[in-house]
Amino acid sequence: MSHADRWRIVPGVRPDLVAIDPAGTDGAPGNKSATGEETATLAERLADLQGRLWAESERSLLVVLQAMDAGGKDGTVKRVFRAMNPMGIQATSFKAPNDTELAHDFLWRIHAALPERGKVGIFNRSHYEDVLVVRVEELVPEPVWRPRYEAIRAFERMLTTEGTTVVKVFLHISREEQAERFRARLADPTKNWKFAAGDLDVRARWDDYRDAYADAMEQTSTATAPWFVVPADHKWYRNWAVSRILVDVLDAMDPRYPAPAEGLDRIVID
Ligand code: AMP
Ligand code: MG
Repeated sequence: MSHADRWRIVPGVRPDLVAIDPAGTDGAPGNKSATGEETATLAERLADLQGRLWAESERSLLVVLQAMDAGGKDGTVKRVFRAMNPMGIQATSFKAPNDTELAHDFLWRIHAALPERGKVGIFNRSHYEDVLVVRVEELVPEPVWRPRYEAIRAFERMLTTEGTTVVKVFLHISREEQAERFRARLADPTKNWKFAAGDLDVRARWDDYRDAYADAMEQTSTATAPWFVVPADHKWYRNWAVSRILVDVLDAMDPRYPAPAEGLDRIVID
């Protein structure tokens, strides 16, 4: 059993998001400051593991981040992934699809943004929007979005066998915490830009989104491409938990520096 199993969604099981406390701190090594220290230690391991993955250049890791608005996707990218060498990272945030993207299947833009061998790809939102916002806002009818669960399973299975490890993280915040963060976005001029008027319409449909998330995770958490639900009201806990998951996943991938070229040991630099 790995540390990350605490947050893993078992395949076929619908997570009960009402029962999972967004303010929970289960398994944390201590209070905010002790946990922060542990996160710093994990950051060093992340840096080492990513360096190996980059040097090996054979496989890649895709980390999908999903959350309600203000759930901490941007903050997680900033705080957790800064441990890594930017050269080996490819981060993409997905907005509402443009006309060209809409003229293709929903995985077309996703496929184009995948990390090449050696890289860690970060998706801030993802193909999951096509069974979340698209479902709740009825942007397409059910006969169109429902088969997407199977399409996603098949797509991620293909990625896995082709050398891309896929992990998916749902940052789980409470409705109250979202309200706090929205208020901060309205009050702080440096955060105003993060608030969109439409965010309140989405907030009004909180329960519908929660149901859509639970269904998506039940349908698409698999042994090889698992979902993790991370309580995210406390940013210090979220950063530690996501770091913990990434270290576990990269450890299991066990990336290796390539074997030295033949004869390196006989070369003399004068
Ligand atoms: P933000 O992450 O705050 O920059 O907002 C991005 C917006 O794009 C959100 O409102 C998402 O719901 C929306 N979005 C992302 N992907 C899709 C999609 N496939 N279909 C419709 N809207 C999307
Ligand atoms: Mg937003």
